[in-house]
Amino acid sequence: MTEHTDSNEATQCPLCGKPNECAVAAGRDAGSCWCMTVTMSPSALASIPAEAQGKVCICARCAAGVRAAD
Ligand SMILES: [Zn+2]
Repeated sequence: MTEHTDSNEATQCPLCGKPNECAVAAGRDAGSCWCMTVTMSPSALASIPAEAQGKVCICARCAAGVRAAD
């Protein structure tokens, strides 16, 4: 699987590929993003691919430490 969807990359969770519902990626105010009110799981943050770190948001489910594929 080597699909490249440039326009959607910022809105997809790099861990599970589902919509991350990031307010910033959607063109809304960062303060309205769900990520401002949750605590990110350290293990989830650590599993973000290096090329995606600092660029792509993960989704709420992954941020909470829930694994998509278990
Ligand atoms: Zn996710």
